[in-house]
Amino acid sequence: MASIDYYELLGVTKTADGKEIKTAYRKLALQYHPDRNQGNSEAEEKFKQINEAYAVLSDDEKRARYDRFGSADPGVQYSGDIFDIFASVFGGGSGFSGRVQRGVPGEDIETEITITLEQARAGETIQTEVERLGTCKRCNGERAEPGSDGRRTCPTCKGAGQVRQQVQSFFGSMVTQQICPECRGLGEVVTTPCNECRGAGRTRQKESVDVGLPKGIDGGYRLRIPRAGNAGQDGGPVGDLYVYINMEKHPELEREGDDLIYQLKLGFSQAALGSSFEIPTLDGPEVLQVPAGTQPGREFRLRGKGMPKLRQVGLGDEIVIANVEVPTKLSPRAKELLEAYAQEVGEEIHEHETLVQKLKGLFGGKKKGDKEEARAS
Ligand SMILES: [Zn+2]
Ligand SMILES: [Zn+2]
Repeated sequence: MASIDYYELLGVTKTADGKEIKTAYRKLALQYHPDRNQGNSEAEEKFKQINEAYAVLSDDEKRARYDRFGSADPGVQYSGDIFDIFASVFGGGSGFSGRVQRGVPGEDIETEITITLEQARAGETIQTEVERLGTCKRCNGERAEPGSDGRRTCPTCKGAGQVRQQVQSFFGSMVTQQICPECRGLGEVVTTPCNECRGAGRTRQKESVDVGLPKGIDGGYRLRIPRAGNAGQDGGPVGDLYVYINMEKHPELEREGDDLIYQLKLGFSQAALGSSFEIPTLDGPEVLQVPAGTQPGREFRLRGKGMPKLRQVGLGDEIVIANVEVPTKLSPRAKELLEAYAQEVGEEIHEHETLVQKLKGLFGGKKKGDKEEARAS
């Protein structure tokens, strides 16, 4: 629900050409047009989605972007009048009306959630609480106090819902029809407003919403949950809820796209001799054999231990980076052993003073030598 596959929605393959997409759109748009599905909010939502899908897939640039980033990409979300899309495909003479709107539509609202890598990986459903304007439970959105004779015919339009206005223009006198400003087209006005919502028909309500995470979602994405926004007024459609995703920092793993990074700390003797390590992964600990002679910065790839690729098949990897640590504190015994090791492999260990003496000897007190010495000290 949260992540909509536009191709699936239109019933076409990912390689479908513009003509196929248009044909599929035409068929579905006619089937779900609100004029044919009066009062069916599911059809209305579907109609909205089909138009969004067509708006994106019929535009080469938007389609390429969608293919790369998926529906959750904030840049892809279509914002515009869906009836404009419909009209552009069917033309004005289709016999269908334009916007079908009763009442005032509810506003879209937004919220944010913070999720863990594990939740993003599994594509869990997260429950979150949102505050929205819901239909007033006392008056059921009717605005008038229940039990009272709280409504009467609108005095401005006499119940017609529309008013005629005569305007003088360059072409002479013209009559225009407008939605009645007093009753907003309802033909009735509230005389005794509901005690709970004060006649607004809506009240502030806390509600629990299920957010279905697409597998592999990352921070910065936005999900749209249809009809979880503010309630409409006087029969208007419900708005949508936009959920912004934040990622919680994982204590051990860093995320880089589909891959996870683990910084393995190992001593230089472990790097030189080779050793097995227990590596944390999102599937639980894994054993990694670090071979003898491992150089600092070497990367090991644990295939398929990363994040699912968003809207694609497959998983990223976990990359283990060998961070070879040089000891900063040595016990006398460890120092002895290292000195013995140095001697064995022919690494010269010079004390500072002896090297200074040696250099002085080499350069015979020349000016240049003094400079070198000053820099080395
Ligand atoms: Zn009320
Ligand atoms: Zn009126």
